[in-house]
Amino acid sequence: MDLLLLGPPGAGKGTQGVLIAERLGIPKFATGDLLRDAVRLGTPLGLQAKAVMESGALVSDDIIMGVVGEELRKPTAAGGVIFDGVVRTIPQAEGVAALLATLGRRIDKVLFFDVTDEEILSRIEKRRGIEGRADDDPVAVQRRLKAYREQTAPVLDWYRGRGGVTTIPAVGTVQDIADRVKQAIGA
Ligand code: AMP
Repeated sequence: MDLLLLGPPGAGKGTQGVLIAERLGIPKFATGDLLRDAVRLGTPLGLQAKAVMESGALVSDDIIMGVVGEELRKPTAAGGVIFDGVVRTIPQAEGVAALLATLGRRIDKVLFFDVTDEEILSRIEKRRGIEGRADDDPVAVQRRLKAYREQTAPVLDWYRGRGGVTTIPAVGTVQDIADRVKQAIGA
Protein backbone atom coordinates (compact mmCIF):
# COMPACT_ATOMS: atom_id res chain seq x y z
CA MET A 1 0.00 0.00 0.00
CA ASP A 2 1.24 3.51 -0.80
CA LEU A 3 -0.02 5.91 1.83
CA LEU A 4 0.44 9.66 1.92
CA LEU A 5 0.35 11.75 5.09
CA LEU A 6 -0.64 15.35 4.54
CA GLY A 7 -1.03 18.21 6.99
CA PRO A 8 0.68 21.29 8.37
CA PRO A 9 4.01 21.18 10.21
CA GLY A 10 3.49 19.89 13.74
CA ALA A 11 0.29 18.01 12.86
CA GLY A 12 1.75 14.70 14.07
CA LYS A 13 2.49 13.10 10.68
CA GLY A 14 5.92 11.91 11.83
CA THR A 15 4.68 10.37 15.08
CA GLN A 16 1.73 8.61 13.46
CA GLY A 17 3.85 7.63 10.45
CA VAL A 18 6.21 5.62 12.69
CA LEU A 19 3.25 3.76 14.22
CA ILE A 20 1.70 3.02 10.82
CA ALA A 21 5.04 1.85 9.42
CA GLU A 22 5.48 -0.58 12.31
CA ARG A 23 1.95 -1.92 11.90
CA LEU A 24 2.00 -2.30 8.13
CA GLY A 25 5.65 -3.32 7.88
CA ILE A 26 6.43 -0.82 5.13
CA PRO A 27 9.02 1.96 5.26
CA LYS A 28 8.20 5.52 6.20
CA PHE A 29 9.82 7.98 3.85
CA ALA A 30 10.17 11.47 5.39
CA THR A 31 11.92 13.97 3.15
CA GLY A 32 12.44 16.28 6.17
CA ASP A 33 14.37 13.56 8.07
CA LEU A 34 16.38 12.67 4.96
CA LEU A 35 17.29 16.33 4.35
CA ARG A 36 18.21 16.92 8.02
CA ASP A 37 20.54 13.88 7.87
CA ALA A 38 22.10 15.27 4.68
CA VAL A 39 22.65 18.65 6.35
CA ARG A 40 24.21 16.99 9.41
CA LEU A 41 26.54 14.92 7.23
CA GLY A 42 27.41 17.88 4.98
CA THR A 43 26.60 15.99 1.75
CA PRO A 44 26.08 17.95 -1.51
CA LEU A 45 22.31 17.56 -0.99
CA GLY A 46 22.64 18.90 2.57
CA LEU A 47 24.73 21.85 1.43
CA GLN A 48 22.09 22.72 -1.18
CA ALA A 49 19.17 22.42 1.24
CA LYS A 50 20.53 23.85 4.52
CA ALA A 51 19.83 27.58 4.16
CA VAL A 52 16.42 27.08 2.57
CA MET A 53 15.35 24.66 5.30
CA GLU A 54 16.54 26.91 8.10
CA SER A 55 14.59 29.83 6.64
CA GLY A 56 11.38 27.78 6.71
CA ALA A 57 10.89 27.84 2.92
CA LEU A 58 10.44 24.76 0.74
CA VAL A 59 13.35 23.01 -0.97
CA SER A 60 12.99 22.99 -4.78
CA ASP A 61 10.75 20.43 -6.46
CA ASP A 62 13.68 19.21 -8.60
CA ILE A 63 15.74 18.29 -5.53
CA ILE A 64 12.78 16.65 -3.85
CA MET A 65 11.80 14.62 -6.92
CA GLY A 66 15.41 13.40 -7.17
CA VAL A 67 15.29 11.97 -3.64
CA VAL A 68 11.80 10.53 -4.16
CA GLY A 69 12.98 8.73 -7.31
CA GLU A 70 15.94 7.26 -5.41
CA GLU A 71 13.71 6.10 -2.57
CA LEU A 72 11.20 4.41 -4.87
CA ARG A 73 13.96 2.49 -6.65
CA LYS A 74 15.03 0.81 -3.38
CA PRO A 75 13.98 -2.85 -3.08
CA THR A 76 12.63 -2.07 0.43
CA ALA A 77 10.10 0.30 -1.15
CA ALA A 78 8.70 -2.34 -3.50
CA GLY A 79 5.78 -3.20 -1.22
CA GLY A 80 4.67 0.38 -0.71
CA VAL A 81 5.82 3.46 1.16
CA ILE A 82 4.40 5.86 3.72
CA PHE A 83 5.07 9.34 2.34
CA ASP A 84 5.56 11.74 5.25
CA GLY A 85 6.09 15.42 4.45
CA VAL A 86 6.27 14.80 0.74
CA VAL A 87 4.11 15.80 -1.27
CA ARG A 88 4.17 19.54 -0.51
CA THR A 89 3.45 21.16 -3.87
CA ILE A 90 1.25 20.37 -6.90
CA PRO A 91 4.31 19.60 -9.11
CA GLN A 92 5.45 17.10 -6.45
CA ALA A 93 1.96 15.51 -6.45
CA GLU A 94 2.16 15.15 -10.23
CA GLY A 95 5.75 13.90 -10.07
CA VAL A 96 5.01 11.25 -7.43
CA ALA A 97 1.94 10.08 -9.38
CA ALA A 98 4.05 9.75 -12.54
CA LEU A 99 6.85 7.86 -10.75
CA LEU A 100 4.43 5.47 -9.07
CA ALA A 101 2.63 4.92 -12.39
CA THR A 102 5.89 3.65 -13.93
CA LEU A 103 5.83 1.00 -11.17
CA GLY A 104 2.17 0.19 -11.75
CA ARG A 105 1.24 1.85 -8.45
CA ARG A 106 -0.68 4.84 -7.19
CA ILE A 107 -1.26 6.58 -3.87
CA ASP A 108 -3.88 4.29 -2.34
CA LYS A 109 -4.88 6.55 0.51
CA VAL A 110 -4.24 10.09 1.68
CA LEU A 111 -4.61 10.87 5.38
CA PHE A 112 -5.07 14.57 6.06
CA PHE A 113 -4.12 15.48 9.64
CA ASP A 114 -6.38 18.37 10.52
CA VAL A 115 -5.28 20.67 13.33
CA THR A 116 -5.64 24.35 14.26
CA ASP A 117 -2.82 26.91 14.06
CA GLU A 118 -2.94 27.43 17.87
CA GLU A 119 -2.39 23.72 18.48
CA ILE A 120 0.46 23.63 15.93
CA LEU A 121 2.24 26.58 17.53
CA SER A 122 2.02 25.05 20.99
CA ARG A 123 3.27 21.63 19.77
CA ILE A 124 6.17 23.13 17.83
CA GLU A 125 7.19 25.23 20.84
CA LYS A 126 7.34 22.03 22.92
CA ARG A 127 9.27 20.17 20.18
CA ARG A 128 11.74 23.04 19.95
CA GLY A 129 12.69 22.47 23.60
CA ILE A 130 13.22 18.75 22.93
CA GLU A 131 14.72 18.49 19.42
CA GLY A 132 16.29 21.95 19.02
CA ARG A 133 15.46 22.15 15.28
CA ALA A 134 16.66 25.43 13.73
CA ASP A 135 13.43 25.73 11.73
CA ASP A 136 11.28 25.49 14.87
CA ASP A 137 12.18 29.05 15.92
CA PRO A 138 9.18 31.42 15.81
CA VAL A 139 10.19 33.31 12.63
CA ALA A 140 10.89 30.12 10.65
CA VAL A 141 7.68 28.53 11.95
CA GLN A 142 5.63 31.45 10.59
CA ARG A 143 7.35 30.99 7.20
CA ARG A 144 6.65 27.27 7.28
CA LEU A 145 2.98 27.89 8.01
CA LYS A 146 2.87 30.41 5.15
CA ALA A 147 4.53 27.88 2.80
CA TYR A 148 1.97 25.32 3.95
CA ARG A 149 -1.01 27.61 3.28
CA GLU A 150 0.24 28.85 -0.08
CA GLN A 151 1.93 25.79 -1.57
CA THR A 152 0.78 22.68 0.29
CA ALA A 153 -2.88 23.34 1.14
CA PRO A 154 -3.80 23.29 -2.61
CA VAL A 155 -2.36 19.75 -2.75
CA LEU A 156 -5.22 18.60 -0.51
CA ASP A 157 -7.76 19.73 -3.11
CA TRP A 158 -5.67 18.07 -5.84
CA TYR A 159 -6.01 14.72 -4.04
CA ARG A 160 -9.63 15.35 -3.02
CA GLY A 161 -10.45 15.71 -6.70
CA ARG A 162 -9.03 12.21 -7.22
CA GLY A 163 -10.70 10.54 -4.20
CA GLY A 164 -9.25 8.53 -1.34
CA VAL A 165 -8.68 11.36 1.16
CA THR A 166 -9.63 10.77 4.80
CA THR A 167 -9.50 13.63 7.29
CA ILE A 168 -8.10 12.68 10.68
CA PRO A 169 -8.91 15.15 13.46
CA ALA A 170 -5.35 15.39 14.82
CA VAL A 171 -6.26 16.43 18.36
CA GLY A 172 -6.25 14.42 21.58
CA THR A 173 -3.62 11.92 22.66
CA VAL A 174 -1.24 10.08 20.32
CA GLN A 175 -3.35 6.98 21.00
CA ASP A 176 -6.63 8.77 20.15
CA ILE A 177 -5.18 9.84 16.81
CA ALA A 178 -3.65 6.39 16.18
CA ASP A 179 -7.09 4.81 16.72
CA ARG A 180 -8.62 7.15 14.11
CA VAL A 181 -5.81 6.28 11.70
CA LYS A 182 -6.37 2.56 12.22
CA GLN A 183 -10.04 2.97 11.44
CA ALA A 184 -9.24 4.99 8.31
CA ILE A 185 -6.80 2.49 6.83
CA GLY A 186 -8.49 -0.62 8.19
CA ALA A 187 -5.22 -1.95 9.67
P1 AMP B 1 9.62 18.55 7.81
O1 AMP B 1 10.49 17.80 8.73
O2 AMP B 1 8.77 17.65 6.96
O3 AMP B 1 8.79 19.60 8.50
O4 AMP B 1 10.57 19.32 6.77
C1 AMP B 1 11.51 20.27 7.22
C2 AMP B 1 11.92 21.18 6.08
O5 AMP B 1 12.53 20.39 5.04
C3 AMP B 1 10.79 21.91 5.38
O6 AMP B 1 10.42 23.11 6.05
C4 AMP B 1 11.41 22.18 4.02
O7 AMP B 1 12.36 23.21 4.05
C5 AMP B 1 12.16 20.88 3.75
N1 AMP B 1 11.30 19.86 3.10
C6 AMP B 1 10.98 18.63 3.58
N2 AMP B 1 10.21 17.96 2.72
C7 AMP B 1 10.01 18.78 1.66
C8 AMP B 1 9.28 18.68 0.45
N3 AMP B 1 8.59 17.57 0.14
N4 AMP B 1 9.31 19.74 -0.39
C9 AMP B 1 10.02 20.85 -0.12
N5 AMP B 1 10.71 21.02 1.01
C10 AMP B 1 10.72 20.00 1.90
